[in-house]
Amino acid sequence: MATLLVKNIHTLVTMDDQRREIKNGALFVRDGVLEQVGITRELPVAADSVLDLHDRYVVLPGLVNTHHHFYQVLTRAVPGAQDCELFGWLKTLYPIWSNLTSEAIYTSALMAAAELMLSGCTTSSDHLYLFPNDCTLDDEIRAMREIGMRFHASRGSMSVGVSRGGLPPDSLVEDENRILQDSRRLIETYHDNSRHSMLRMTLAPCSPFSVSTDLMKESAALARSYAGVRLHTHLAENELDVRYSLEKFGQTPSQYVESLGWTGSDVWHAHCVQLDDSGIRSFAQTRTGIAHCPTSNMRLGSGAMPLRRMLEAGVSIGLGVDGTASNDSCNMLHEARSALLLARVSEKNSAALTARKALELATRGGAAVLGRDDIGFLAPRMSADFVAINIDRPQFAGADWDIVAALILCQTDSVDYSFIQGKKVVDQGHLTTCDLGSLIEKTKALAASLRHATS
Ligand SMILES: [Zn+2]
Repeated sequence: MATLLVKNIHTLVTMDDQRREIKNGALFVRDGVLEQVGITRELPVAADSVLDLHDRYVVLPGLVNTHHHFYQVLTRAVPGAQDCELFGWLKTLYPIWSNLTSEAIYTSALMAAAELMLSGCTTSSDHLYLFPNDCTLDDEIRAMREIGMRFHASRGSMSVGVSRGGLPPDSLVEDENRILQDSRRLIETYHDNSRHSMLRMTLAPCSPFSVSTDLMKESAALARSYAGVRLHTHLAENELDVRYSLEKFGQTPSQYVESLGWTGSDVWHAHCVQLDDSGIRSFAQTRTGIAHCPTSNMRLGSGAMPLRRMLEAGVSIGLGVDGTASNDSCNMLHEARSALLLARVSEKNSAALTARKALELATRGGAAVLGRDDIGFLAPRMSADFVAINIDRPQFAGADWDIVAALILCQTDSVDYSFIQGKKVVDQGHLTTCDLGSLIEKTKALAASLRHATS
């Protein structure tokens, strides 16, 4: 039995049902699970391991990233893709991605996870939907186990290439039987639906414009034959995406997914920038989740998701950094700030999203979207996933009025401590589970080989 006490927390942001913010707070952890949450003087005074934060840190639940493509770390800021909308951006990048290798998938996953963990993320999903050469989803699962991040792995897929009216090149699509076989293999090998699970599986055909209606239906049936396996795809990302749906299927994106059974509490869709009012009502009624990716939506000029209307309708929403080729970073703290700013500018409403609500989307919101009841807030019986941020940083000087709102309003870049399942993975701003310097060098070398292969 290993115990951990974190004490003298300046402000403990629990995000619990009462949204308590506890001054001089403390957490007591046993075997990776929170046992007590409260005021320092009321908690045990000793533990196997003690971290005294000397009243200089804010602690909050670990952030939850609901949408990403780790491999895109290797194609950040590609010149031909810097100023394109979604379809042009994809067509520019597909040929580069066709040179990915198993080693590239593994290393980019480590690099993305490192950047996420340093910015406070403790749980991430990832959506890997192309498997050229020797790439497999096993590569990124191995990386995430090594770096120690809680992970929702998505077996993505593309099966409709250009010759059949899809967007990707034929060389990047897979046979549908093979996709389903590999999906089953991955679920049987890795999926863990237990409480505090570090790895759960999702089936995730890439988008309506790259897979068939059959594969969407078959994937849903396969996922639903296992407890806790979820469904995910891209939906209604921009106006061209909606036009494709109307022309190809004669349905809006929301009508299309409803007709396929791709709504429900076990489904979450990325983007939904162009989801119409009936789609919003349907998602709220069916408890279908959304991964809101504000930075990517701004970067690609996709538009602004009607966040406030969706929240008012009761839609379940988390945040996602989206792939690193359209963000071009993996910083969850920045994403929460982007969500606040985009909501305000798109609504011309300075109260469209508060700083605390932005933090809530990044924590509780993301946990709900991933179907988790053991992460997202700090309370007894929850996983010990939390981060600490020093308040003596330059950007917080003068922000003692409201240090919690300052986490978003003053643009926080990184965390000082991070614990995942009670294990310290960031210590005084440094990752404990990987050598960041050599990882950056390896990532740069792999990006260089992609550049050479396509030049
Ligand atoms: Zn995406």
